[in-house]
Order: sequence, then structure tokens, then C-alpha cells
Amino acid sequence: MVRIGFLPPATPPEPTGEACSTCLFAAIVNDAPDAIFAKDRAGRYLFYNRESCRQAGREADEVLQQDDRLLFSTGEADNIARHDSLVLTGQRQVSYVESLTTADGERIFLTAKGPLRDSGGEILGLYGIARDITELKRMEAELRIAAVAFQSHEGIIVTDANKVILRVNEAFTRVTGYAAAEAVGNTPAMLKSGRQSPAFYRAMWDAIGREGHWEGVVWNRRKDGAVYAEWLSVTAIRDESGQVAHYLGVFSDISEPREARSKIMQLAFYDPLTGLPNRRLLQDRLGQAVAGCARGTAYCALMFLDLDNFKTLNDTDGHDVGDQLLVEVARRLGRVLRLSDTAARLGGDEFVILLENLDSDELTAGNHAEAVAEKLRQALCLPYEIHGRTRYSSVSIGITLFQGHVQGTESLLKQADLALYQSKAAGRNTIRFFNPAMQAAIDAHARIEEGLRRALAEQHLRLLYQPQVDGSGALVGVEALLRWHAPDDGSVSPATFIPVAEESGLILPMGRWVLETACRQLAAWAGDPATRHLTVAVNISARQFNQPDFVSDVAAILAETGADPVRLKLELTESLVVSDVEQAIQTMGRLKELGVTFAMDDFGTGYSSLAYLKRLPLEELKIDQGFVRDIPHSADDCAIAMAIIALGRSLDLKVVAEGVESQAQRDFLAGQGCHVYQGYLFGRPVPAEAVGELARDRG
Ligand code: C2E
Ligand code: MG
Ligand code: MG
Repeated sequence: MVRIGFLPPATPPEPTGEACSTCLFAAIVNDAPDAIFAKDRAGRYLFYNRESCRQAGREADEVLQQDDRLLFSTGEADNIARHDSLVLTGQRQVSYVESLTTADGERIFLTAKGPLRDSGGEILGLYGIARDITELKRMEAELRIAAVAFQSHEGIIVTDANKVILRVNEAFTRVTGYAAAEAVGNTPAMLKSGRQSPAFYRAMWDAIGREGHWEGVVWNRRKDGAVYAEWLSVTAIRDESGQVAHYLGVFSDISEPREARSKIMQLAFYDPLTGLPNRRLLQDRLGQAVAGCARGTAYCALMFLDLDNFKTLNDTDGHDVGDQLLVEVARRLGRVLRLSDTAARLGGDEFVILLENLDSDELTAGNHAEAVAEKLRQALCLPYEIHGRTRYSSVSIGITLFQGHVQGTESLLKQADLALYQSKAAGRNTIRFFNPAMQAAIDAHARIEEGLRRALAEQHLRLLYQPQVDGSGALVGVEALLRWHAPDDGSVSPATFIPVAEESGLILPMGRWVLETACRQLAAWAGDPATRHLTVAVNISARQFNQPDFVSDVAAILAETGADPVRLKLELTESLVVSDVEQAIQTMGRLKELGVTFAMDDFGTGYSSLAYLKRLPLEELKIDQGFVRDIPHSADDCAIAMAIIALGRSLDLKVVAEGVESQAQRDFLAGQGCHVYQGYLFGRPVPAEAVGELARDRG
């Protein structure tokens, strides 16, 4: 309600059919988005429009006839009064910027005031219009910052959504040699050096489209033709509707040595995802620690951490979630560790931690390291909030302690890795220390591998043949068994060296040599009536069997040696078949087409399932010698042997008993219907020449 004499009431009078100009005037003033007011000479409000009321958080009734002490703090009211008196005494308009506390908090106003006169020209008071320019001021400040930032020593390019350059800064001109006028209207492609493939740029723009940001090294060409490297970061700037409106490119010339060094340091020594040191920096620090604690006496600890089931999370929830988890893991490591400790990421979900200067007493140092590891284990077990969902993880940790001297950094890393392996094997989410027994195993493994390599090259391997006889005692075949006589270690059991050969891949050339030698022997025996009926069983390892060209290799060897495929029997193990039953069936099928037959070796020790046993093109089952050993004393073994023989009969398979050492064993097995026997009772593995004599004796 307007209470001032020379303004009509804001509520329009009875409609007269045409707009009353005074009413219109009152409505505009009242509804204006600026605060509009009038005061008498004593500073009492005569008029207070709706926006004024809103800002004051009061009704007009409360304000009219009151002065500014009601509305503002003393300081603010004094300031207002000073400007008001300028208007009244100076009889002129003033306009100024003031900051006032309103119902919206502290706001900035551009205020204009002027004298208010009656019809006789006498000054009654003053009027004022105050516009809230807080937002404008903020934008102005931002613009000022942006303008200063734009003058940075880094080159800046602003393009529109179509990558057309709108603005560049002086640093752009300094680096590229192009003036702003030459660049504006072009696209950044004008700088291309041609050193990077179209695929590179596609990947870059894909990343910007996907993540809104990309950074990396780009090779560009200056106006003078010189090619240079820049560290470029591109950001997509979106408008309120989410559409890309501009792209902002910021770059620094890293062909300048100083900047290049820091960028290259960052790239070369830190993991870009987590910001942790990478393998290179870790190795450097580890090297220093080894050298350092050779002089001192305190133990250091090296820990390997591997997240349990990270791969599953990555595969099922996506790499983005996986990345977030890794970043959070790095953060938690940082929270648990001291500043002097090093946490590094080796890649994937593998982290390594180096704790230095633990204690000079090995046990105390070990306890300390274990306590830290336990804290880490617990910290990494806590739930992870990623993209609004809770996820869980756990970690396996392997630790090795060292005191400088003897070990190289590589062997320390291996030790920690081995301890980690043990920790995983122990069921994950656990901590394991490296111990000397593990070291002995590593050393033995390395020695065997080295020795085998030499034996293979220098042809120190031999193949012996162990007789297999039928129920009448007649020699029906042999099993080829590999022998290695190591110059230093004497005769090494295949049970020891075959797993090493498997792991190192040496089993491939070795297995081929065995097959070739056995087939050549078969071909030789074919020429002698006493031996031509013999079969030769050859043990095939999983790795060998799973080689893509295994079937063609066997075919080639058969062709080369002229051996009769029907006399060649391949011995497979259950675990080999179980790992991929369908694949095994297929490979066996193709080999069977060549005429080759199959025996299931060490039967009963694996996890054969009747369901697929039926589907395998097998000729025979070999009862594992472990079940034969205690026959006839062990009721269990007797029962197992009986069951296997019965199973063989029902599947129409020949049953061979291995490791038969006594007549009692042979008789029991014969009583159950076993077909063939192999064991010391009938002969140990012997050289090929001895087989001929045996054949004539037993034939
Ligand atoms: P396997 O295939 O089960 O071979 C039978 C093993 O039992 C042989 O041991 C043999 O010497 C032993 N043996 C035979 N009769 C008796 C007996 O009456 N009593 C006892 N206690 N043992 C007996 P060996 O030669 O030490 O071979 C061990 C394993 O090494 C073999 O088990 C086989 O799995 C593997 N192997 C041997 N030669 C080769 C080969 O050329 N290639 C591959 N991949 N593995 C081979
Ligand atoms: Mg065998
Ligand atoms: Mg066996």
C-alpha cells in the first residue's frame, strides 16, 4: 500500500475502460526488479516498492516512516546517510556502488539517488533506485582472472564446438609463430606435423568425447616449419544444456629442456592413474635402500600387494570402476604409510611397498613389517563407495626382509612375489613372509632349468623303455620314460624335472625329442619279428598337448620316422583332459584319425567324471601305482583297483596296472580281470637294445 500523497494507490481504481497513466506509472514502479524508494528530508521512508520489501524481508507498513537504522547496521546506515545528505544539500543526483546486508546476505548495489521536489520546486526529500549487481561483479572478477590467466606463459586455444579457433593468446603466437589473426578461423589441424597417425588423433578426440578431457604429448609444426613437442591438455566446455560449446586447449612447449624434464620425470617415474611411483622409480629407491642398509644395520621390508579378485571386478563392473578402486587403494596406502615409506604401483592391481630402517633385530623388524601389513590389509578390506555403489575388495600380501648386502633388487622382488604367491595359495586376504625354504626351491628350480637346457642342447637325455606284459607274461609293449643324468647332480627323477620343463616351456622341444626317438624306435622294432608287435606308450604333458600344432607335429613325426601309428600310444593325465574337455576331445579325435591310441595315465588320482570319460576315444586306463602299492594288504586300495577294473570293463577299456612289484599284487589284479601289468616285477625301464632280448625271452 503506497502511502505517499503524490502517488496514487498501487491497486488500480475501478476500471474506466482506458488505462489511467498514473496507475500504470504506479504499477511499473511497484513491480520493477530494482529497489525503488523515497525518503523525506529526515530520512524517513515515504515509499518502499515490492523489491525493496523483499530485500529487507519486511512489509512496507513496517518500513514506512522509519529510517535506515531499522534496516541496516550502524555502519551501513551512516554510509547511506552520507550519500543522502549529498543529494539534499548539493541538490543533485548521485550514483555510487554500495555493499549492504539484505535478506539475501551481503549484496552489492549500484544506487542512484536524486532530490524529490514538490510542484513548487521545494525539496521534500529524495528518491532512490538500487540495482543488485552482485552477480555482475562476480562475473567481472572472473573475467579479470580469466584475462590474466589467458596471458599465462602456456599457449591457449579456444575453439567453438566445430574446432574452429576463436581466440589464442600471446604464448600461442610465441610458440607456434602464428599471429592471432592467422589462427582465428582456422582449426588446430593447421599445426599438425604429420608425425602422429590419424588413429592417434581419433583416439584423442574419442577420449575428449567420452571423458571431456585429454592430455598428452602432441607433435606440432611451427610456422617456420620446425617440428616440436608440446604437452597438450584439451577440455570440452559444455553449455547449460550439456552440449559442447567450446574446446579449450592449453599447451606448453616441452622441447624446452626445463619443462620437458619435469613432464618426462612425471611420465617416466609415476603411474598416471594413481600418482604413485612406478616400477622404475621403485627400483631406483630399492637400489638405494639396498646400498644404504648395507652400510647401516637396520632391516628393510619389501612387500608385494595384489588385490584379490580385481580382475573379476574389472571385467564385470567395467574399467572405470576398476580404475576408481585402484585410485582409492592408493589413497588408503598413503594414509597408513609414513612419509618415508614408498608405495609404488607396478601395473594392474599390483602394488609394492618399501619400508626402510625398521630395526636391527630381524625379529623386531619382521614384527613391525607384519603390523604395517596387517594395517594395510584391514584398510583395503573396508568397503569402497564407487559411483554410488558399495564394493568390497581384499588383498594378499607377500613380504621379504632384507639387510642390504648380498641380494640384488631383482631377487628381492622375486622373493616378495613368491611370498605373495604363497599368500594367495593360502586362501587370499592373508600375509605371508618369504622364507629360506622358498629360496632353496627357487634356486633348485633355476639350476634344473639351466641344466635341462644344456642337456637338451648337448643331447644328454636318454629314453628308457619299461616292459608291459599281458596275463600270460608275454611282452606286449613298453612305456617310454625319459632319463636325465645331470653331470653334477647325477640322475634326476622325471618327477622333479618334468614340472620345471613344463613351466619353462622346455617341455616342448623335449617332448618332441621323446616322440621322435620313440617313433624311430618303433620303426626299428617293426623290422624284427620278435618286436614288431610291441606298442610304445609315450607320456604327453599338458602344455605339449595344448600346443595348436600338436596334431600336425605328431603326424609329421610319424611320417618322418615311418612308425606305424597304431603302435603309438599317447599317455594323457586326467588333469590335462579336465582343464578343457571339449578341446581335449577334439584334439584326441584328430589324432585318432591318424591311427594313434590313448591311455589315461595315473587313473584315479584326478577328477575324472564318468560323463566325459565315456566321450573320450580312450583305449586303456592305467591304474595309478599309488593304488597298487598296498595291494593286497590295504582293503581300500583293493577296492579302488577293483572298481577301476570294473569301470574299464563297462566302458570297454583295457586296464593296465602300474608299479606292480610283487607276485601277490599281480595275482590279485589278475583275479579282478586286469589285462596288462607294468612294474619292477616284470622289468625296470631299460635301454632299447635290452627290450629286444626281453622280447625274445618273454615273446
Ligand atoms: P608315469 O607315466 O606314471 O610313469 C611310471 C613311473 O613309475 C615311472 O617313473 C616308472 O619308472 C615308475 N615305475 C614303474 N614301475 C614301477 C614299480 O614297480 N615301482 C615303482 N616304485 N615305480 C615304478 P619315472 O620314470 O620316474 O617317471 C615319473 C613320471 O615322469 C612319469 O610317471 C611321467 O608322468 C613322467 N615322465 C616320464 N617320462 C616322461 C616323458 O617323456 N614325457 C613326459 N611328459 N613325462 C614323462
Ligand atoms: Mg606314464
Ligand atoms: Mg603313471
